[in-house]
Amino acid sequence: MKKSIAIVGAGFSGAVIANQLAHAGYTVEVFESRPHVAGNCHSERDAETGVMVHAYGPHIFHTDNERAWEFVNRFSTFKPFVNRVKAITNGQVFTLPINLLTINQFFGKTMRPAEAAEFLAALGDKTIDNPQTFEDQALRFVGRELYEAFFKTYTVKQWGLDPSELPASILKRLPVRFNYDDNYFSHKYQGMPEDGYTALVQKIIDVPGVTVHLNTRFDPASKGDYEHVFYSGPIDAWFKHSEGRLPYRTLDFKMFRDTGDYQGNAVINVCDNSQEYTRITEHKHFSPWETHEGTVCYAEYSRQCEENDIPYYPIRMARDKEQLERYINIAKQEPNVTFVGRLGTYRYLDMDVTIHEALSTSDKFLECARDKQPMPAFVVNPLG
Ligand code: UDP
Repeated sequence: MKKSIAIVGAGFSGAVIANQLAHAGYTVEVFESRPHVAGNCHSERDAETGVMVHAYGPHIFHTDNERAWEFVNRFSTFKPFVNRVKAITNGQVFTLPINLLTINQFFGKTMRPAEAAEFLAALGDKTIDNPQTFEDQALRFVGRELYEAFFKTYTVKQWGLDPSELPASILKRLPVRFNYDDNYFSHKYQGMPEDGYTALVQKIIDVPGVTVHLNTRFDPASKGDYEHVFYSGPIDAWFKHSEGRLPYRTLDFKMFRDTGDYQGNAVINVCDNSQEYTRITEHKHFSPWETHEGTVCYAEYSRQCEENDIPYYPIRMARDKEQLERYINIAKQEPNVTFVGRLGTYRYLDMDVTIHEALSTSDKFLECARDKQPMPAFVVNPLG
């Protein structure tokens, strides 16, 4: 009898692979330990207010990738939404990412774009040639004052580490603009799924041939019952942490309700030490096409992920690389298992990249099956 495919995890990675392989004629079993699909993108309506809540923190879909955008639009209408983040520091409110308004307001000036670019270049530390750390990247491109006001303290709160220990790649997520564009993202497409992320993922996974087992942990020992396993859980958990625990940050949310408009924006960061939390998300602003009397907010606190916590952000410091390499090497020796997604490859991935990689993973699997070649453990180099 033809064996089926097991997929561990019903987040974007698992759902997209299930969808693609079921369409190609495979029988797919999806195992999800939580009571819902969509992983950390899960959204649900708050019973009291009716507000659509991003249960594991804010998720804004943004991409330049045509294939990922076309794919998600097949399953949901995307409503226009532009993330315009505000930041509180030293008793004032600014706009992020750092743009001409931020710079002019911060320094009490009225500079035009070229003047501001020149001004910031003069503040940057030009002795830093090839910034490797978060701190060097910030000092090189925005200078000490803006770094300390907007990045240093927020980053310590978010990562529990000094920015000098973190890679420059984290800061490179944020642009610096010399115009008044305060769109947090620079991507061509941006929006919110009209009925939330869970409805979207449910539609992706809802294909004949796919069976979803919620509240069900997959035991790696049963991998032999399947033709192939796609695993989107934490790579270290698959190997029972044989090489030690890879470090993650987890988040705690303090939820509170109010009426009307609590803060006037979806996301407000607190970049200084005036609050322990990193940001407050007011969820109703993610659905500006809806009207609700009540409002639901999350104050977000970050801390080290312990054994029974939900892992959110992989902490990829240079000193953890060896441990990760050991996991990658043993994963490569594991036949018929492919490691996918944020947790399977231990990378800080946005949703669109996750979806695009899942589509590439399914393509690769079908190609390998056709050519009778073994499917690799990784389709994307996790160290790349
Ligand atoms: N960051 C910061 N100050 C801010 C916003 C972000 O220092 O006001 C830094 C922080 O280290 C954060 C990183 O930039 O982890 C990436 O920010 P992003 O908004 O992309 O984080 P996410 O929404 O994925 O948590």
